[in-house]
Amino acid sequence: MNGTRRTPYAKFTREMKKTHTVLIPSMLDFHFPLLVYAFRAGGYKAQVLSHFSGEVIAAGWEYSNNDICYPANLIIGQFITALKSGRYDTHKTALLLPQTGGGCRACNYIHLLRKALVKAGMGYVPVISLNVSGVEKHSGFSVTPKMLLTACAAVMYSDLLMHLYNCTSPYEKSSGECKRLVCVWRKRLSKAFESGRLILPFSMGKVFDRICSDFSKVKKAYKKCPKICVTGEVYVKFCSIGNDGLEDFLRGEGCEVYMSGFANYMMYLMDNCKADDRLYDKATVSGALSPLAVKVVGSMQERMNKALAKYSLPQMSTYKYLKEKCSWAGSFGQTMGDGWLISAEAADGLQNGCDGCIIAVPFGCLVSHTAARGVISRLRKRFPNAAVSAVDHDSGLSRINRRNRIKMIISFAHKY
Ligand code: SF4
Repeated sequence: MNGTRRTPYAKFTREMKKTHTVLIPSMLDFHFPLLVYAFRAGGYKAQVLSHFSGEVIAAGWEYSNNDICYPANLIIGQFITALKSGRYDTHKTALLLPQTGGGCRACNYIHLLRKALVKAGMGYVPVISLNVSGVEKHSGFSVTPKMLLTACAAVMYSDLLMHLYNCTSPYEKSSGECKRLVCVWRKRLSKAFESGRLILPFSMGKVFDRICSDFSKVKKAYKKCPKICVTGEVYVKFCSIGNDGLEDFLRGEGCEVYMSGFANYMMYLMDNCKADDRLYDKATVSGALSPLAVKVVGSMQERMNKALAKYSLPQMSTYKYLKEKCSWAGSFGQTMGDGWLISAEAADGLQNGCDGCIIAVPFGCLVSHTAARGVISRLRKRFPNAAVSAVDHDSGLSRINRRNRIKMIISFAHKY
C-alpha cells in the first residue's frame, strides 16, 4: 500500500502494467467489445466482465451502503464476485472504474469500491480511475494518444452499428441477419484495431460508408412497429444488466428501439468541463481542450450521417442537434450526472417520430429524479398523445412489475 492521502489505497504502479489483468465492469454492452481494444492499444491486459447473477446484487449490498445508487451497487457487486470467484489471481488483478469528474456518485463511488475491497480482505487490489478531469493519477496508468484515438473510433463505429441494428433488425426478412452483420463488422474492426488501423478520423469515413452499404442491402418486410425511444441514466440505458435486458425485451415485443449514441454522452461530459470552468471561475486543461474535442467528434457524427443519407438510411441525432433543437425540456445548468441530456434525448425521440419514450431510472439516483422524472410533464405538454414514462430499475422491484409497466407503454404507443 502506498499513497499520500489520509486513507492510503493500493496504487497501480508501472511494474503492474506487465503483470496485472485489468478488469472492467459491464457498462456499455454494444460498445465494450470494441472499446476494450483502446486499453490493449496502451499495453494493458484488459478484460470486460460480463457475468451476472443474484450473487452480484447480494455482494453489492453486503460490501457497500444499501442506499447507494443501483449502478454503483451492481458494479461493486460484480467486481467483488469476480475477485472471489477464483478465476483471477487477486495479487495480479487491478480494477478499472470510470470517474466522470462531476458531483454525482459516478465520480465518488471509487472510494466506496476501495472500502468494499478492504472489507472483503482485498484492500491490496488497485483500483484505477479512468477520468479526463485529473481527479486521480496512477504512475502505471496513462491514456496515450493511440488509446484515445482507438477509444474514439470504437465509440463512433459502435454507435453506428447500434443505430443500424436498432432501426433495421425489427424489419429484417431473414431473422438474425442484422446480428450477423454486427458480428462481422466487430470482427473486422477488432482485427484492424489490433494492428492500429482505422482509428484516424480521416480513415473512418470509408468504413462508415461500407457499414451503411452492408445494412442497406438487408431485405426488409413492410410492417409497422411502434418506435420506442430509450433514454435515461447512462448505465441503465446502455447496460442490459442494469436495465434487465430492456432493449431486447422491446424488440421481442415487436418494437423498434430508438437510442441516442454514446458519443453524445461523451460530448456532453466534455462540454461540461468548459461550463464548469466558466461557472466556477477556473481554468483547467480539459476545459480548454473541450471545444476542440467536441468539434472533432461532432464532425465525425456529420460524416456518419452523410454515409447514412447516401444509402437512404435513417440518420442519427448529433450532439449539435440535441443541444440546439431538443434542450427546451431541460436546462443547461443541469450538468450533474446525465443532466439535461436525458430530457434532450427524450425530446429528440418524440420529435423524430417515436410513439413512446421510456426513461430508465435507477434506484437511489437523485439526478434522475430531477433531470428525468422532473421533465416528464413538460414533455407530455408538448406531445400529449405520446406514451412517456419513467421506469424504475432496482434489485427490489419485481421483473413482472417492471415489464407490465413497459407493456403498458407499448400498448399506448400502439394506439398513438
Ligand atoms: S447519475 Fe445517478 S445512478 Fe448514475 S452514478 Fe450518478 S447518482 Fe448513480
